[in-house]
Amino acid sequence: MPPITQNGSPKAQVEDYISKNKVMMFSKTTCPFCKKIKDLFKNLNVEFQVLELDQISNGADLQNALLEVSGQKTVPNIYINSKHLGGCDDTLKAQAENRLLPMINDDGENYDYDLIIIGGGSGGLAASKEAASLGRKVAVFDFVQPSPTGTTWGLGGTCVNVGCIPKKLMHQAALLGHGLEDARHFGWEIPENVKHSWDKMKNAIQDHIGSLNWGYRVQLREKKVDYHNAYAQFVDKHTIKAVNKKGKEITKTARHFILAMGERPRYPDIPGAKEFGITSDDLFSLPYCPGKTLMVGASYVSLECGGFLKAIGMDVTVMVRSILLRGFDQQMADKIGDYMGLHGIDFVRPCVPTKIEKLQDRLDGKPGLYKVYGKYNDGTEYSDEFNTVIFAIGRDPCTQNIGLDKVGVQMSKNGFVISNDADQTNVSNIYAIGDILEGKPELTPVAIHSGRLLARRLYENGTLLTDYINVCTTVFTPLEYGCCGYSEEDAIQKFGEDKIEVYHSNFWPLEWTVAKRENDACYAKLICLIPEKEKVIGFHVVGPNAGEITQGFGTAIKLGATKTDFDNTIGIHPTCAEVTMIAVQNSERPSYKTLARL
Ligand code: FAD
Ligand code: NDP
Repeated sequence: MPPITQNGSPKAQVEDYISKNKVMMFSKTTCPFCKKIKDLFKNLNVEFQVLELDQISNGADLQNALLEVSGQKTVPNIYINSKHLGGCDDTLKAQAENRLLPMINDDGENYDYDLIIIGGGSGGLAASKEAASLGRKVAVFDFVQPSPTGTTWGLGGTCVNVGCIPKKLMHQAALLGHGLEDARHFGWEIPENVKHSWDKMKNAIQDHIGSLNWGYRVQLREKKVDYHNAYAQFVDKHTIKAVNKKGKEITKTARHFILAMGERPRYPDIPGAKEFGITSDDLFSLPYCPGKTLMVGASYVSLECGGFLKAIGMDVTVMVRSILLRGFDQQMADKIGDYMGLHGIDFVRPCVPTKIEKLQDRLDGKPGLYKVYGKYNDGTEYSDEFNTVIFAIGRDPCTQNIGLDKVGVQMSKNGFVISNDADQTNVSNIYAIGDILEGKPELTPVAIHSGRLLARRLYENGTLLTDYINVCTTVFTPLEYGCCGYSEEDAIQKFGEDKIEVYHSNFWPLEWTVAKRENDACYAKLICLIPEKEKVIGFHVVGPNAGEITQGFGTAIKLGATKTDFDNTIGIHPTCAEVTMIAVQNSERPSYKTLARL
């Protein structure tokens, strides 16, 4: 309840409540219509004030005064921006006619835009196009600050330019290399000294990215979204200033803002890191073949990049500080590590770099030579020489120095934006999506999905919230790893060991038999919750096309599929997805326990 206003006549008190609160509802705790409207506001994530007339001593006087002020005595009696909306039916009608949110959002100010989005990546572009389709005046500000070595790129954000797209295409180059080996077993006569050209691959991929950048610009133009290639900073909660690469500054205002600035790679604080090292921001457009490469870090980016670089012919070392793929099922992570090791990637662990020295300059078309020093956990020194050192030690959100502190947006100590379930920050007209969100999966489809839903919630009576649970993901290492739901470790921690059952099996893809590839590398497991009819709460697979396989099973898991549902599903023959299914169907009870649990 808002603070009780005690001064003045009942009429003056009623008017005071109305003028001081954007959405003011006079209500009674026993009234079912009032409850209906409260639920509606909650679903729409609208902040509202309620005065329960049956809970205060002068409630009857105020109700009489309400009749005088509004011409309505019944509750709920609702005012928005000091204007009388009416009762339950009037509010539901306004909602059905898509007038309710615009009334609430209309603060009487004349802004340049309904919505400004800072960041034209996966999330920002999706939100901007959706909001524009819903008839809103929208602008996107996107600006790429060059990496320390000067790499920059076009519209579309991380995924398109320096993330998913070039990574998956280089992964494809790697798979084709493996395919060449397989092809010999299938009768293709391929010369032994087949060569791969970094330049040809890189240029073809960059050409494709260029066409995507262009496509995004066209889409924004078609949707009538104003695109500003300028770096935005907040002046106040409704105003930004933005500077383009020529230093020209503009100021624009908007009713709503969506923060979608994404992240950039982190560098370690060691001598030579920024001078001589590069990151994934530079790798995909590198003007020379990287040669002997050190990947520092042991998560998605490091293992994926290390994986494809090895497969296209580089000598690759991965420096691991602790474990592989923190947060993932560790049995699966180790399987990936074993496979990469077997295929010639050197793992240095547990070790961190301490210094990089330059031995030879980079020359046109050729990498340099660097000496990397490191320290193992036990204090032993490490050193080796590399042509390229790539840091993949995590990414920092782009939330610093853009005035978020000035407008009071709440952030975690690492600079991630804190938001509620509706992706709204603590500043009511500022929302956030994508990689900058605290504790949410950092994946392109997540950013896109939440951008679209947020635009619908803001401008189309949408009530659907992004479900950040059970998001499928795939690590595109040479042996792909797809998963959805709990890792075995997390399931045990959350539910207790006696509550979970694990079904598992190795499998040998048909395509790998004639090709004489390993018969024990591919593996799948289901983690099931015993008290809930063995509901599948974790799906994990390492093998060819794990991403494609996992996507489909993701829907089943979202719908609450049980082990029995999996058993009753007939496979498609002969596929890897089927092999995965059959493997776990035939897995015998009592199921396996991981080595760590024995
Ligand atoms: P981004 O796409 O990063 O876009 C943010 C944009 O805002 C950028 O263009 C940035 O320059 C701009 N910006 C920042 N500050 C400002 C400012 N003040 N003013 C104007 N513009 C600003 N995800 C997957 O789902 N699958 C994958 O296979 C995958 N592979 C990846 C591989 C790599 C190497 C990396 C690094 C990431 C990968 N990801 C993958 C993650 C995915 O790229 C991100 O989750 C996704 O791009 C996040 O989208 P976003 O909209 O939050 O931010
Ligand atoms: P992560 O934060 O996931 O991993 C960082 C890695 O670097 C960890 O192995 C960490 O080790 C290690 N590390 C951290 N600091 C140091 C240091 N000072 N010295 C040595 N090692 C260090 O970052 P990524 O960049 O790999 O990925 C970022 C996000 O991008 C991911 O969370 C993912 O959501 C997204 N992404 C998605 C992909 C996909 O969908 N396929 C692909 C690539 C990225 P430790 O475990 O010891 O902390």
